[in-house]
Amino acid sequence: MQSFRAPLASPLFRQTPSFPFMHASEQNQVFAIIDQHATRAHEASAAWAHSSPTVRSGVLRALADALDARANELAVMADEETGLGIPRLTGEIARTSFQLRGFADEVVAGVPYVQVDDEAIPGPPPSGRPRLTRVMVPIGPVAVFAASNFPFAFSVLGGDTASALAAGCPVIVKPHGGHPRLSIEVAKIAAEVLRAQGVEEGVFSMLDCDMSRDANIHLVKHPLIAGVAFTGSYQGGVALWRAANEREIPIPFFGELGSINPVVVLPAALHDDPVAPAKVLAASMLQGCGQFCTSPGVIVVVDDQRGREFVSALGDSLAGQATHRMLSEGIRNGFEDAVARIKANANIEVVLEGNEAGAGPAPRLFQTTGAAFIADASLHEEMFGPAAVVVMVPSVDAIPDVLSAVKGSLTVTIWGGDQDNHENREIVRVAQNIGGRVLFSGVPTGVAVTRAQQHGGPWPASTDPKTTSVGYAALQRFLRPVALQDAPEWLLQRA
Ligand code: NAP
Repeated sequence: MQSFRAPLASPLFRQTPSFPFMHASEQNQVFAIIDQHATRAHEASAAWAHSSPTVRSGVLRALADALDARANELAVMADEETGLGIPRLTGEIARTSFQLRGFADEVVAGVPYVQVDDEAIPGPPPSGRPRLTRVMVPIGPVAVFAASNFPFAFSVLGGDTASALAAGCPVIVKPHGGHPRLSIEVAKIAAEVLRAQGVEEGVFSMLDCDMSRDANIHLVKHPLIAGVAFTGSYQGGVALWRAANEREIPIPFFGELGSINPVVVLPAALHDDPVAPAKVLAASMLQGCGQFCTSPGVIVVVDDQRGREFVSALGDSLAGQATHRMLSEGIRNGFEDAVARIKANANIEVVLEGNEAGAGPAPRLFQTTGAAFIADASLHEEMFGPAAVVVMVPSVDAIPDVLSAVKGSLTVTIWGGDQDNHENREIVRVAQNIGGRVLFSGVPTGVAVTRAQQHGGPWPASTDPKTTSVGYAALQRFLRPVALQDAPEWLLQRA
């Protein structure tokens, strides 16, 4: 009844040599398997698009229940592969099932089925008009590229999968190679749930995590794939975004690529105590060993006595802190390369470069001036790990230009902006120009799943700044409006 095939029985789940070492015959075999998945997803599209709220929400809730039922065992498996720790992973499973149930609630509330009806008005235009009913149509099969850093919440049954299923689109997951065993286990759970729910074949399936880069491109370019959701690196995201746009018929590509998440620490935030905010920020930088897409990477501080005390306290709070191992050797190497590039920049001063105290890298803190940061785009690159650049500015007036230089970011945090004055208004205006979420207290790490949430932002934070990949608005990515003009009543009842 459903599309998922036991992974170990599929040729895709054999260890396949990676590009560029894959032989043409193996490559063709992989392409053929992608074709099968896409065909099955396409065949399931119409029925799933027309599935009732009861059926669709029932599947989402059953997936949530199945994850919760196996939470302890899955957290252990995820920890073995990612090193993220049991408490964090247990919390992430709870968030993932919460989000599946939340999308089920949206389905029951009728969000994906919403209609806007304009009654006919007799007479000539412009006031006279036919009856128009705007309906939302699921776009069709969606390829989901799972992320490395959230093995549940942004992976096989994460937000992209949940939102696409809620919208009425079948999903084909390309799992991340950082947690292959876990991905296979979660996909098996999904397959059992869908089978038990009697869902049409092809609604959910998963490919191999190690298919070759060419195969990833083949998936995105497959004529039966109608949209792509991606979380990962700028380079990987851009390669796949290009592929989506180079197709004979381009398709929507919803990529979350990279973000440096500026934190603006205004003098008002340091007036009473510069040390406590520094400790809070250090804890945020260290969360998940800095492998959060919302990790604070740029800290903007006014160069006065309190500002300097804050930077010193931030260095002290980070110094000697043990971090856990990073998600993969590739990510660790990428972090060390990024840190080395920043350190080698002539305009950078090292605030902290400690020794490793755990299995992960030592936290790093660098400092530069506002003028240097604005002039040098290489200082805006993401260091995916526990590191940040402090940008010292001579006065609050200089902050908007520093933020403008960042261009696109998932978040901008402003501490101490409570007063309504010209400077604060300017900072908030620019923060809204570059950021998807603007925070006035707390830290950017941790993204609540709600209706109002926005997890995106101008390029390079996301490839489509009008959309979000977290929160219930995420399902709108996979719906397309159609206006029905003078539609017969039977169709409107069914739509
Ligand atoms: P990644 O390298 O971008 O990989 C993500 C997915 O894209 C994988 O399935 C990968 O397939 C595929 N891919 C990557 N490059 C491709 C290409 N040129 N052509 C076709 N497919 C491609 O991301 P990652 O492995 O998670 O982490 C690497 C870096 O990404 C990190 O160091 C960090 O800088 C960044 N990152 C950012 C965020 C964020 O939210 N901002 C989150 C995670 C990671 P394969 O399995 O074939 O490699």
